[in-house]
Amino acid sequence: MSEVNEKTPLLEVRNLRKLFPGKSSFFQKDKAWIKAVDGVSFTLNAKETLGVVGESGCGKSTMGRSVLRLIEPTSGDIIYRGTDFSKASGAELRKLRSEMQIIFQDPYASLNPRMTVGEVIAEPLKIQKRYKTEAEIRAHVLKVMEVVGLNTKYYNRYPHEFSGGQRQRIGIARAIVLNPSLVVCDEPVSALDVSIQSQVLNLLRELQESMGMAYIFISHNLSVIKHISDRVMVMYLGHVVELADKKELFDNPSHPYTQALLSAIPVPDRHAKRKKILLQGDLPSPANPPSGCVFHTRCFKAQDICAEQKPELRDIGNGHLCACHFCGGACAQAEKSEENKEIL
Ligand code: SF4
Repeated sequence: MSEVNEKTPLLEVRNLRKLFPGKSSFFQKDKAWIKAVDGVSFTLNAKETLGVVGESGCGKSTMGRSVLRLIEPTSGDIIYRGTDFSKASGAELRKLRSEMQIIFQDPYASLNPRMTVGEVIAEPLKIQKRYKTEAEIRAHVLKVMEVVGLNTKYYNRYPHEFSGGQRQRIGIARAIVLNPSLVVCDEPVSALDVSIQSQVLNLLRELQESMGMAYIFISHNLSVIKHISDRVMVMYLGHVVELADKKELFDNPSHPYTQALLSAIPVPDRHAKRKKILLQGDLPSPANPPSGCVFHTRCFKAQDICAEQKPELRDIGNGHLCACHFCGGACAQAEKSEENKEIL
C-alpha cells in the first residue's frame, strides 16, 4: 500500500455507480433500475473534510455507504492509499475496512440496545483482533471514552440510559476506536438538538486535528457544511453538479442548483437583501431521470440544449468544477449582459 503524500490523495473515487432494482411494468421489456448514484468522481486528501450536500434523495448517503462498501457499488473504482478498495477481498478488505469508518445519523437506531457502552465501543477491536486480553481492550475503550467526553463510569450502562448527544458520542467513539484515516459522517448532527449540534461538530473538529482523519461529511444543512468543510461537493439526482473550495463555492456558486440552495440560507443582517430562488416541482424519480442535464426540469436557466445534451463536470478555473453548459465563461458573460441591460 503506497504512502499518502501531499500530491497523492488519500481517496480517489472514479465513476461510482449504485443502481437498485426497481419495479418494471408489464409492458417494459428491460428491467427498471433506480440510479441512486450515477457516475460520481472526486478525490479526498488526508486530513481534509469534503462536505457533501444536496436535497434528501439526491444519493449522498448511498454514495457515502458505497465508498465504504457497506453497500456494494454497481461499478466504479475506489482507490484508497493507492490500493483498489473496490476489488479488495478477504484479509486485505478487513484491513482496509479498519481504516475507514462511519458515523450514522441516528444515534438511537445505530447502537445495539442489548450491548453496554463498553461492549459497543470494543466490538471493532474484537473483530479486528487488536488485543489478546479483555484487560487490554477495556483499557483502550476507557481511553477512547475519555477522548470523546464520555464519563468512564458509564462503561457498563446501556445506550437507552443516555441523551441524544451522548449517544452520538458513543457512535463517534466506536468509529474512532481503530484510529481510522477516513470517516464518513452521514448526517451526524441532524437528529440532535441545535444546542448539542455545535458540541458534536466541535468534537469532530478536535478529533480531526488530534488524530489526522479525513471526513466525508454528508448533510442537507448548508450552515453545517459551511462550518465544517474544506471543500464542498453538491449532488443532484445521483450526480455531482458542483465541487469547489468552500470559500469559492459559497462566494461564487456557479451551478443554478447550488445558487438556488444558497439563496435559501437566512442572511444574518436583516437589512441585507438576497433574492430567493424557488425551484419548481419535486426532485424527479431516479428510476426515470430527465434526459440531458438531470436538473433541466427545474432549472430557471434551462435552454433547449439542456434537455438534449448532458453537461460534463468541468474545471471552470482553479479546480472549481461545475456541470452546466453555461458555467464559467458563457454563463458569466450572459449574466453580465443581463446586468448591463438592467443598468441601461
Ligand atoms: Fe440549467 Fe442547462 Fe445548466 Fe442544466 S445545463 S444547470 S438545465 S442551464
